[in-house]
Amino acid sequence: MENRYNRILLKISGEALAGSKGSGFDEATISSICAGVREAHDLGVQIGIVVGGGNFWRGRSSGKMDRMDADKIGMLATVMNALAVKDALRQQGVPAVVMTSAVMPQVAETFTSDKAIAALNEGKVVVFGGGTGNPIFSTDTASALRALEIGADAMLKATMVDGVYDKDPHKYPDAVRYDTLTFTRVLDERLAVMDSTAASLCRDNALPILVFDLGDGSNIARAVRGEKIGTLVCE
Ligand code: UDP
Repeated sequence: MENRYNRILLKISGEALAGSKGSGFDEATISSICAGVREAHDLGVQIGIVVGGGNFWRGRSSGKMDRMDADKIGMLATVMNALAVKDALRQQGVPAVVMTSAVMPQVAETFTSDKAIAALNEGKVVVFGGGTGNPIFSTDTASALRALEIGADAMLKATMVDGVYDKDPHKYPDAVRYDTLTFTRVLDERLAVMDSTAASLCRDNALPILVFDLGDGSNIARAVRGEKIGTLVCE
């Protein structure tokens, strides 16, 4: 069976790496997420991954600290996560490399789209650390940016719920899940899918986003095969 996508950008929030611990790393959780990535990789799809940093730090909730410094700490947190994900992938026999937005040669390669695409073509999973490299932005925006830079067919946004709902499904049992949505609606109705910077970047560049539940790691492979899961956001 043909895959629906040839190249994807998977966004994994920092929170997902913490599992039930709520913060920091949970090795078993990271390993089970990476088993899901391996399953998708075995299908032959090229995979870039942007990791968040919320399991360690979020710049906007850092109290009195200067926002620029707080965001730099947040970006460094995403580099730690990228290294952990790369390591877990390699433990499972998946070739992987970290590329960072900021130059830190002792830690990882520096991102360029050419290098990332070359690594993807060699069958490596490329884990992008450091967000966009700029304060104020988020790793959702970094995901949209990297997806466009590597020419991904879609961004797969892994979350804790199985798609986008009209209201919080944890609070309202009658909440309805959307199968598809447009970015315009996400923006107009301020649906909590991603921040508006990321949503408008995707809309302006026709990059579809599939929002799906990472509770089951096999969902990544399901999405790649084109099975109907989650909510597809496109214009
Ligand atoms: N961050 C940033 N620029 C970026 C990406 C991230 O300054 O391009 C910082 C920001 O402080 C953010 C933190 O890194 O709060 C962690 O990223 P994010 O909140 O997006 O992580 P997630 O919620 O996905 O785990």
